[in-house]
Amino acid sequence: MFSRPGQSRSSDGLAPPARDPSQLWRLLRYVRPYTPLLSLGILATLLSAGLSLVFPKLFGNLIDASFLKTGGGSGPLDRIVLLLLLIFAVVAVFTALQTLLIARVGVRVVADLRRAVFGHLLTLSPRFFASRRTGELTSRLTSDVSTVQTVVSSALAQLLSQVVTLVGAITLMVLTSFRLSLFTLALIPIVIGAAFTIGRQIRRAAREVQDKVAAANAVAEEAISGVRVVQSFTAEGLELGRYSVSVEESFLASMRRIRLTAWLLGSMTFLALGSLAGVLWFGGRQVLSGTLTPGNLVSFLFYALQVGINVGGLTAIFSQIQEALGASSRIFELLDTHGDLPQPKAPTPLARVEGRVTFQNVSFRYASDPVEGHVEAEPDTGAPILSGINLDALPGQTVALVGPSGAGKSTLVSLLPRFYDVSGGSLCVDGVDVRQATLEDLRAQVGLVPQETLLFSGSVAENILYGRQDATEAEVQDAARAANAEEFILNLPQGYETAVGERGVKLSGGQRQRVAIARAILKNPRILILDEATSALDNESEALVQDALEKLMVGRTTFVIAHRLSTIRRADVIVVMDDGQIVQRGTHAELIAQGGLYKDLYDLQFRSERRGREMMSDAG
Ligand code: ATP
Repeated sequence: MFSRPGQSRSSDGLAPPARDPSQLWRLLRYVRPYTPLLSLGILATLLSAGLSLVFPKLFGNLIDASFLKTGGGSGPLDRIVLLLLLIFAVVAVFTALQTLLIARVGVRVVADLRRAVFGHLLTLSPRFFASRRTGELTSRLTSDVSTVQTVVSSALAQLLSQVVTLVGAITLMVLTSFRLSLFTLALIPIVIGAAFTIGRQIRRAAREVQDKVAAANAVAEEAISGVRVVQSFTAEGLELGRYSVSVEESFLASMRRIRLTAWLLGSMTFLALGSLAGVLWFGGRQVLSGTLTPGNLVSFLFYALQVGINVGGLTAIFSQIQEALGASSRIFELLDTHGDLPQPKAPTPLARVEGRVTFQNVSFRYASDPVEGHVEAEPDTGAPILSGINLDALPGQTVALVGPSGAGKSTLVSLLPRFYDVSGGSLCVDGVDVRQATLEDLRAQVGLVPQETLLFSGSVAENILYGRQDATEAEVQDAARAANAEEFILNLPQGYETAVGERGVKLSGGQRQRVAIARAILKNPRILILDEATSALDNESEALVQDALEKLMVGRTTFVIAHRLSTIRRADVIVVMDDGQIVQRGTHAELIAQGGLYKDLYDLQFRSERRGREMMSDAG
């Protein structure tokens, strides 16, 4: 029995991160370019931490100067307060400097890391993206990188400052009163032990909350990006139900974390204040017996407070570092994933090819499931999608690919720009095996006009420039004209500068196709892949698109996944595919005369199209 919608999509797809400490060193490599800035920040941190150790001593002196009769009136008191104010001011300056310098390094490192991850993602093959959710990848770019930022920009500095303060404060405590130190230090493990135990549970609960929220987000993201499908199937209730389950799970996880936090806060408040009372009691007895001055007791209390605060801080930082290690493992795992397309050591240059494309006994299978960090095709897994493909397209020829859905037409053309590598046989362009050329050289020769054109946010001109970024304005306009797109572009509110894409003006299917054609014209490749739109355009739009395509195809070797009779008629050779094999080839007339799959398809699909057209023209 198969699972119903809603039963199978819950996990966020992220593997639990490994906390490998070597990741931290790897992270520090990104920090290296900013060493001077970081060193200044560390210096400021050390100075402010060191100076903060002077306060308690001065507070003690202040108390003694106020309450013990030392002579000299209020002079010593005034001097101490002035000195305190001066030190406060210096500490304030260093603290601000420390934050400014170190946070700057953190933000820079994060920007570099994001660029590196995104740049690397763009080089990975479709095989990699087929096995990942977009949400999972963008979450590595956003939340994982931000988690790392926290550590680089503040936690490391705090760690340093807290260690310095902690060691200093313990030393000064011991120097102030050895016996009181022993008493106090015996209390600290009780407080820390309690905090640590509950803290660990809180961290586990927090991770669970993150996982549940990510799972809920994944459900929402899928439903939002496919909202039309959801609405057309009136599946709003189903999606809401699915989302509600995820949200409820994240609510329950949050409540668990909140309960633990409340429990931690309560018990910590009691333990901390109780310890303070204990120290006051033990120290007070020493003051009464004359072994300690009141000022020394105050100094001691402040040092003990500093120790408590810093130990607490250290455990928080420790958990932040743990989280960052998890996040950086996920980031580096992505950076370590290499494409499955091996690059030749000594590539054969493909400067300007004639456009001869030869498939020689090509077979292909999609790898079953890529393993983390490893997307290479596994030779013996997955069913064969293509087999025994032999095809020789001469320069300038148009090859129409026809066949039932799932026959392997899209797979066949995706081998040309090397989105995938053949599993057997070879694919050559002008006699050069595509695996012997660089991807840049090869892809410069191949233009793609997909069924559904993706417009990026930006102006129409920018979208056309995607074909060749160094083209001049005149070249863009020429391309738009040749693609029969100029007229509609000039009618847009700001002409070529009109914003399109997700937030801009919505273009019709035919208009988007013409933008794609203009892109391809600008790129001027020798080999062209056209995936004809299956949905019918209105007559006028169709004629404009068809005319633009015809101009584009002149002098280029064109592979077209054909859905229109006109394209088929014009093709030099029609290749009929079924179940991953070429079952027939020839011209339209030859194939009709031959009978077989092509004739069946023709009868089914194209004849009705022709009849429709005849009826339309009769009506006209
Ligand atoms: P259509 O006309 O419906 O677009 P097609 O002839 O272009 O079909 P392909 O898209 O090439 O067919 O698909 C051929 C086979 O390969 C199908 O069985 C499909 O399930 C499978 N397939 C396609 N893409 C992948 C992929 N990324 N991973 C695994 N299998 C795939």
